[in-house]
Amino acid sequence: ETQKETLGFQTEVKQLLHLMIHSLYSNKEIFLRELISNASDAADKLRFESLAKPELLENDTELKIRLSFDKAANTLTLEDNGIGMSREDVILHLGTIARSGTSDFLKNLTGDQKKDSNLIGQFGVGFYSAFIVADQVDVYSRRAGLSASEGVHWSSKGEGEFEVATIEKAERGTRIVLHLKADEADFADGWRLRNVVKKYSDHISLPIELPKELYGEEAEKATEVEWETVNRASALWTRPRTEVSDEDYKEFYKHISHDFDAPLSWSHNKVEGKLEYTSLLYVPARAPFDLYQREAPKGLKLYVQRVFIMDQAEQFLPLYLRFIKGIVDSNDLSLNVSREILQKDPVIDSMKSALTKRVLDMLEKLAKNEPEQYATFWKTFGQVLKEGPAEDFANREKIASLLRFASTHDSSGEQSVSLADYLSRLKEGQDKIYFLTGESYAQVKNSPHLEVFRKKGIEVLLLTDRIDEWAMSHLTEFDGKQFADVTRGDLDLGTLDTEEEKKAQEEVAKSKESLLERLKEVLKDQVSEVRVSHRLTDSPAILAIGEQDLGLQMRQILEASGQ
Ligand code: ADP
Ligand code: MG
Repeated sequence: ETQKETLGFQTEVKQLLHLMIHSLYSNKEIFLRELISNASDAADKLRFESLAKPELLENDTELKIRLSFDKAANTLTLEDNGIGMSREDVILHLGTIARSGTSDFLKNLTGDQKKDSNLIGQFGVGFYSAFIVADQVDVYSRRAGLSASEGVHWSSKGEGEFEVATIEKAERGTRIVLHLKADEADFADGWRLRNVVKKYSDHISLPIELPKELYGEEAEKATEVEWETVNRASALWTRPRTEVSDEDYKEFYKHISHDFDAPLSWSHNKVEGKLEYTSLLYVPARAPFDLYQREAPKGLKLYVQRVFIMDQAEQFLPLYLRFIKGIVDSNDLSLNVSREILQKDPVIDSMKSALTKRVLDMLEKLAKNEPEQYATFWKTFGQVLKEGPAEDFANREKIASLLRFASTHDSSGEQSVSLADYLSRLKEGQDKIYFLTGESYAQVKNSPHLEVFRKKGIEVLLLTDRIDEWAMSHLTEFDGKQFADVTRGDLDLGTLDTEEEKKAQEEVAKSKESLLERLKEVLKDQVSEVRVSHRLTDSPAILAIGEQDLGLQMRQILEASGQ
């Protein structure tokens, strides 16, 4: 070993290591899934780079992962012949966490194991999970294309620091040696490893090999290790749906999403005809901690004819569905497709609209068949979905049917009422969908604007998310019924009034004419109009907004931003 140096982990890594070791202990076997997932990614990257540079394959074209163990030394070794890492790669990838917002995220940790292990699910665990079972990890790697003398050895006990040195490494790729903790010796065992691989990594498309277990005479005769593939080793999405178990779908999701938790739902489809592609789309159960950060990873994993092309291909789904994870494997795109080409290719546009429809259908199905799951979805991603009507005019009716609102129908304040629910409760003669926006549920639920509706038993949707007013400005109608903001203009509830009520109203209006004149005179600089209102039952007066004016929420947002 030469050019040896000792480096400190980035603070965030130290915190994460500590958290991982203490909070994931009860789920420790997932370390293997994480390391296999990385080896699989490394194979994908090599295959992709070798499209342009076939020499990277160095006559070693059968990409695979090998697991072996040494009971006496209490070690477990994973070896892959994927893309590998250079010295710089190792220092960067196995010493820091590049994802922005990480340190803010880690500040939320409480020290409470249960809560923290919950939090870490939003983050993904990755390579560092090796330290759940190992008290020392050695990584030997060489990046494809570098010479054998440019190998690297990384070693750490998972505390504050790690060592790197330059080594000779004949084979391309990465070998990871876990020095198992004394009480984790059962991972140095063929049977145990087979089980864990089957359970978590069966969906991995490249072969995962273990030494064949030999007994008796056979074992005596053997002069070298015979390897045996233990997983199914085919791309999961190429299999017919009936041959993929729910468990496989879930583990595949964890592999591509780096999420720790199972998804809420998925949709697997093969499209044939003018365009040919397969998609596998998932609705996560939990939002990543950086959902609202601009640079947060989003988009699908793109394959072309089974070959991995890129992560985070953003061109296949609209922004308001950015929480969807999944893959798309196209037969029509060229293997050397780039992000720039994706932006211009008309093929992508038609795939995008088809995939968008798939997602909306999947959500509709979830809402219909599993309302409780849908409620979880709505709590997690509802605000993002509300960007939909503005971004995706063509699908706005479909999106609207997925929205959920708090309403005057019950007093829970929960966003649980769909527009279909609302329409099913329309009053005789009611031809509008009434809504009220405001700062908080507590504030709007007692608004004087609601008085007349309460009196007439008409339901009003109560919208208190920041995005609501803007979202509603893009929704004019649903199922042929207009939306109406109850604070705007002169509410015409005329069709709902009885003849007697109308007559009484006219009389009141007449008797108040002189009061009205006086008020107009006094308030002429503050308001544009004063009218007799029939909306109020308890309050003496109300401020209404003109039909064309900005709503209160929008005004406040603009004022806050200094406009
Ligand atoms: P993630 O997989 O989410 O990127 P990990 O913590 O699992 O995060 O891995 C960190 C990084 O280390 C990977 O992104 C990759 O660059 C590198 N890496 C880990 N394992 C390997 C491997 N077997 N071959 C090549 N690179 C690897
Ligand atoms: Mg990983």
